[in-house]
Amino acid sequence: MATAVERIGDARDTLRRVFGFEQFRGVQAQVIERVLAGESTLAVMPTGAGKSLTYQLPATMLPGTCVVVSPLIALMHDQLRSARANGIRAATLTSVDDDRAATIAAFRAGELDLLYIAPERASQPHFRELLASAPLALFAVDEAHCVSEWGHDFRPDYRQLRPLMDASPQVPRLALTATADAHTRADVLSQLGIPPEGLVVAGFDRPNIRYAIRHRENGARQLADLLREQCGPGIVYAPTRRKVDDLSAKLAAASGRPVLPYHAGLPAEERAANQAAFVASEDMVMVATIAFGMGIDKPDVRFVAHAGIPKSIEAYYQETGRAGRDGDPALALMLWAAGDFAQARQRLGEIEEARQVGERARLDALARLVETPGCRRAVLLRHFGEDPPERCGNCDNCLEAPSVLDVTELARKFLSAVYRTGQSFGFGHVQKVLVGAEDERVRQRGHDRLSVFGIVGADEARLLQPLSRALQARGSLVPTEHGGLRLDGDARAILKGDAAVEIVQPPPTRKERRRREQAPNPVGDPLFEALRALRRELAAEAQVPPYVIFHDATLREMAAARPASLAELGEIPGVGARKLEAYGDAFLAVIRQH
Ligand code: ADP
Ligand code: ZN
Repeated sequence: MATAVERIGDARDTLRRVFGFEQFRGVQAQVIERVLAGESTLAVMPTGAGKSLTYQLPATMLPGTCVVVSPLIALMHDQLRSARANGIRAATLTSVDDDRAATIAAFRAGELDLLYIAPERASQPHFRELLASAPLALFAVDEAHCVSEWGHDFRPDYRQLRPLMDASPQVPRLALTATADAHTRADVLSQLGIPPEGLVVAGFDRPNIRYAIRHRENGARQLADLLREQCGPGIVYAPTRRKVDDLSAKLAAASGRPVLPYHAGLPAEERAANQAAFVASEDMVMVATIAFGMGIDKPDVRFVAHAGIPKSIEAYYQETGRAGRDGDPALALMLWAAGDFAQARQRLGEIEEARQVGERARLDALARLVETPGCRRAVLLRHFGEDPPERCGNCDNCLEAPSVLDVTELARKFLSAVYRTGQSFGFGHVQKVLVGAEDERVRQRGHDRLSVFGIVGADEARLLQPLSRALQARGSLVPTEHGGLRLDGDARAILKGDAAVEIVQPPPTRKERRRREQAPNPVGDPLFEALRALRRELAAEAQVPPYVIFHDATLREMAAARPASLAELGEIPGVGARKLEAYGDAFLAVIRQH
């Protein structure tokens, strides 16, 4: 029996040889060590943390087959393709496969490293018999939260997995999920028969994602700027189908890049075709509702942009998490406006009362993320119960600290003007009253005789708009039915001097903004571009997406290191033995030419 140190040493060799990676990421080593020791584990790892490697790698080391339960056939075929590209002997057993007899024979003979199945299969008696007749290395259960009714994704079929696994008690279990609160975790452990000490939780930080949150002035133009500056595939999330159609047309025209729409209102074939095109592409932008992204494993998404606020911090984390899964620099840009919060708060009134408190808390948390002059990542990670450093160095506010203004006095003036004008006017009217504007409507209503008329001077006037946004974001002002504003939340505390209001210095100039959101992955290195072109050709030939051949990071590394031999090329992270053999000569030839 090998010792723990020997096992992890062997695992590291395999990591290099089969996957072409230098190091384990985060908790991967810990999880793999448990699997190799025959212990059962529940690994909670955020999207992009590299869950699949934790069973694929042991599967290549252990005798017998690793049976992988995965709920989405599309995802399975993706996985299969990536595994096979690394020379792993993998197969799927689904209703759409036509090589079932061959798969079953190979499985029985112990000639498969990985066998992917859908959870429905677990309840089929002949599959149970098949399992009993084949050598097994490991049970891997993907999206394991589906076994719990506490999770948001309960699937009854997952309940059949326990008896299936219990029939082979000597085979270790590895359950994997990205989403599980404490309650769901405990439930998954007991439902799948994994001991409590088998729980391994990875941190939520995604250090390669740069967070930037900006006020939306002209959304289409701001996004078009982003598309021009940031190369590589990207996703733009828009709140409604109509907005998706509108934005995708505008962005296609303005940026000259391939842009496609995706939402539930499109015919199924068109949706599938757009998704496939996106997965295969190196520079396409998908404008989509949040219906897009579930179950898409595209590691080289270079940016995710939100054209309006997401539903919650959880949703924001999940949606932005689709960027940069290959570990390369990626950008998450959110554009927000006061109206987004106003609408969301208005919708709160329409839901059942029992849920309102929770929903309001979610919205408040999101507002704090948007409004903070501090580190975005710190707010995010604290929200998930972590204790991050004060500054991350890779978000807009860390890269260029905004100055903070105490505007409590101005806020009191603003709120009392809202109050004194009867809580039924919108921003424009209140602003006119405060700056003492010559205005027919103001005079007609007698608002020029109020004590708040003209109490805001010219240099403070430019702060009224950002102040109003901030007050709406935190819920001190909420919209009325007729487009006015009324006091709510902590407005009274502010008026009484019991709560302070700070805002971030109003928006920087366009040029400053450019600098702040600069693409981490600039175009232009001719060798890098030539390597990408070769990758495109090879990918087209093999009918796989380009990232299956090599990741961007690998190509960039090649362009920088300029290896002169197969041996040198093999040193580059991401170049495993199998890929070296298949593509090495072609890539060396391109490097020699440049
Ligand atoms: P998850 O399922 O956790 O969302 P994946 O398993 O799809 O994540 O992995 C995300 C990406 O990270 C994949 O492209 C994978 O090849 C890459 N990856 C995984 N482990 C490593 C590692 N140790 N070093 C470098 N890249 C890795
Ligand atoms: Zn930061």
